[in-house]
Amino acid sequence: MGERMKMENITRRGFIAGASCMGAAAAFLKYLPLPALADSLAQGTRVAASPLVDKGFASVRKIGEGVYATISDPSKGLATLCNGGFIAGKDGALLIEGFASPAGAAFQTEALRMVSQAPVRAALDTHYHFDHSFGNAYYGVNGFPLWAHARVAPLMVQRYATIQGKDKSAVIGPLQKKIDSAANDVEKQRADGNLKAMNMLLQSVDQTLVTLPNHSLDPAKLPMKVDLGGIEAVIETYPGHTPGDIIVRVPAQNIVFTGDLLFNGSYPVTFDADMLGYRDTASKFAAFDKDTIFVPGHGQVCGQEGVALERAIFDDLAEHAKKMAAAGVTVEDAQKRYTVPEKFSKLGIFAWSFCIDSAVAQFYNAAKAGTL
Ligand SMILES: [Zn+2]
Repeated sequence: MGERMKMENITRRGFIAGASCMGAAAAFLKYLPLPALADSLAQGTRVAASPLVDKGFASVRKIGEGVYATISDPSKGLATLCNGGFIAGKDGALLIEGFASPAGAAFQTEALRMVSQAPVRAALDTHYHFDHSFGNAYYGVNGFPLWAHARVAPLMVQRYATIQGKDKSAVIGPLQKKIDSAANDVEKQRADGNLKAMNMLLQSVDQTLVTLPNHSLDPAKLPMKVDLGGIEAVIETYPGHTPGDIIVRVPAQNIVFTGDLLFNGSYPVTFDADMLGYRDTASKFAAFDKDTIFVPGHGQVCGQEGVALERAIFDDLAEHAKKMAAAGVTVEDAQKRYTVPEKFSKLGIFAWSFCIDSAVAQFYNAAKAGTL
């Protein structure tokens, strides 16, 4: 048995143990179902009607010549959690995202091998978040170069590696207290969701062989063209979701893999975002070609309507924060008083503190400073 097989067994075993544990903590994700493909895309000729492979937790679908999207459905399993995809040319292939577990990265690699034997030029994490990077070990053990924005490796060390195996009560304690001291059912529900999301993240940290990218992309040297043989991919950086986000474009086919700079069908996760940058990036996406196919970080493949929805969410959060700031309400109360408008009632929220609090606080502060 080769090294590779051994590692596959190890990661598979580790994942099964991890998945059952994480499964209990992540039961709430069942309420984030994956919406259907928009009619405009489903009826077009670019997105394949049936997937190349569908494992429930994710499916892989052809969205262009040599371009495939991996779309997760967390209500059916947790191996991938985020979306990704791959681009395969004559001379090389680029795998996008490390996913939430080695099993997720293995799934995507096996899908690539169903359509191409081209050598893997790189596997790339769009940003450091666990659901985009915790499967990196699978790529590493297969000898694939691991690319990411230069901020990704230091952030993975700081936010994940350093807390592995450590006592987490300093994080969990205050979240538990917020549940106990909630003033009403709405606050209690939100606090409960925050604790569940944090538990899932922390359990995942403890169960993962954190594997850092070994090839940093210097943002000053982006955009960068990658010639895969008959297909050119372009790696670009935009501000917003985390301190280091990149996107992958296939300009000749108007296809963009956005990472979490775009969420489709749910509120964006903003706890370590730069909200003004995030909003600005969404307006730049809106200026991309009207026939662009976007592969968002989460949710279904979309066109410009997905970008418009994200912009509308940002507008709503910003409007609320501005009103609260003008009324002299404290920032804590501004966060508590945000309510999801009827038009967004079908959207998912991963957790209140991960999606709403920081967004409201940053827009509130910007409004006070006159920069909103
Ligand atoms: Zn993210």
